[in-house]
Parts: sequence; structure tokens; C-alpha cells
Amino acid sequence: MAPEGSFAQRLEGLQERLIQACDRVGRDPKEVTLLAVSKGHSMQAIEEASQCGLNCFGENKIQEAKLKISQAAPHFQWHFIGHLQTNKSRDAVRLFHLIHGVDSIKLAESLQEQCAKQARTARVLLEVNISGEATKHGFTPNQIKDELEAINTLDRLEIHGFMTMAPWTPEPEKTRPVFQAMQRLRRDCEDLMGVPFPIMSMGMSNDFEVAVEEGSTLIRLGTALFGKRSYATSRKDSGA
Ligand SMILES: *Cc1c(COP(=O)(O)O)cnc(C)c1O
Repeated sequence: MAPEGSFAQRLEGLQERLIQACDRVGRDPKEVTLLAVSKGHSMQAIEEASQCGLNCFGENKIQEAKLKISQAAPHFQWHFIGHLQTNKSRDAVRLFHLIHGVDSIKLAESLQEQCAKQARTARVLLEVNISGEATKHGFTPNQIKDELEAINTLDRLEIHGFMTMAPWTPEPEKTRPVFQAMQRLRRDCEDLMGVPFPIMSMGMSNDFEVAVEEGSTLIRLGTALFGKRSYATSRKDSGA
């Protein structure tokens, strides 16, 4: 499926929809970051996106990301949005501005260890599996409340917020309860810890408007921006 129109036209259309979603709930569109999910797309596609003013890119495979980052302009910001295996922690803390998918204590500890070795800190989001789908990674809401304090003691990890994925549905409106539940959980966590968790990474091509209406501050758009991915690389595709 070839995407409709030029990249610039698609981007403009998406930005317009983002503005309208913000208008409906009285939000400022500047509160929402657009992450261009470039997994499965070429450097050429990334270059085109950057010429249209985008410079935050999302990848979900370390090898693919490493190659692209080595070829890309140094000012790009790279986000890791996949399921991270602990044996990839060393690369992840070095390469990424933000790691969206911290989904276990074990992974958090491994990131902490690698940060200590490399004298770095890592910016992370905790992934929450709100819907409880077996195919999705992430803490359950109860696990988050139980384990947040322990994760927060890992002094080299900066927990900036949360990431969640809604189940895919042809009717985006059906995702709303997932995003609402994530927003409630975030508030509970803020009360519990007495600190803000400002980043809410939620909303993809299919459901970003609903996510924005429910408080998303970072939408992850792949297909709607770049068209169909040229090879299987999403977590669902790979069965990872
Ligand atoms: C692939 C992926 C996206 C982008 O999905 P689209 O439906 O193509 O917009 C967003 N978030 C995560 C975690 C992904 O793996």
C-alpha cells in the first residue's frame, strides 16, 4: 500500500488532526510530542521526515537502530519503543534519549547496572499493560503500584512517566477506557511518590486522537506518517 500524497502532506494532515483533538479538550498542541516511528523504514524516509521538521524517531530493534543512528545527523533524538532484552541494556543506555518500554524490575536493574558502568543516567518510561492482553508486555497496574518505590531507588534511572498500548480495534473510540485508566494510574503514582510523571506515551496511528483527548503527551506514529512498513518489525509482527 503506497501512502497517499507526499510525506509533507500526510504530516500536515496529522498535525491538523492533532490540533483538533487538542481543541476538543482545551489542550495546547505544544504539550504533545510527535514521535516518528521509523522502524521498518529506510534512512531515506527518515531524511525526508527530518526535512519536514521532525527529529524524534522511534525504533524497536537494537541492531536496526544502531545502524540508523550511525548514519543519521547527530541532532536527531532516538527513542526505544520495543521490548528490550536485558542483554541489550548496554547499547540501549548509550543510544537512546528515552527508553519507553521498561517492563520489569529485572530490566530496570540491568539498565541501572549498565548506566553505572558507563557513568550515565537513563531516561525511562515504565510500560503498563492496562488491557491485560497476554501478547502485550508491561507491568500490570497493581505491579506498578507495588514496585514503583523499588524502581525509584535505582538512582541512575530517571522515571519520566509511562507508556501504554491499547489493543488494536477498527473503532478507535473503544480504546478510550485504556487511556483513561492509564491517566488515573499515573495520578495515583504521583500521589504515592509525591513527584510528577510528566510523560504519557500513548496513542499510535489508529488511536492517537483518543489518546490525546485523554492526556497523552507523546504520540508514536508509524504507518500514518510513513505508510506500511517495508518489513516485519513491530512487536506483534515478530511475535517478540
Ligand atoms: C510500531 C509501534 C508504533 C507505531 O505503530 P503505527 O500503528 O504504525 O503507528 C507505536 N508504538 C509502538 C510501541 C510500536 O511498536
